[in-house]
Amino acid sequence: MHSELPVSPGTAQMPGHRVEITERGSFCFANCSCGWSRPARRSRDLARREAAEHLEESGADQGT
Ligand SMILES: [Zn+2]
Repeated sequence: MHSELPVSPGTAQMPGHRVEITERGSFCFANCSCGWSRPARRSRDLARREAAEHLEESGADQGT
């Protein structure tokens, strides 16, 4: 018996992009809910910028 999860075409597969900046010591990690991540940065601003770029590249709705 195969009872897999029903596939609904048209349903958005992406849960949206939610970037979080995690600080650990003097390093910052940027992670997104979509699985995207960046290596540790020593600059929080840089981590944030990369996160913002990721959102743009992903076409996330940020309100143009
Ligand atoms: Zn993302």
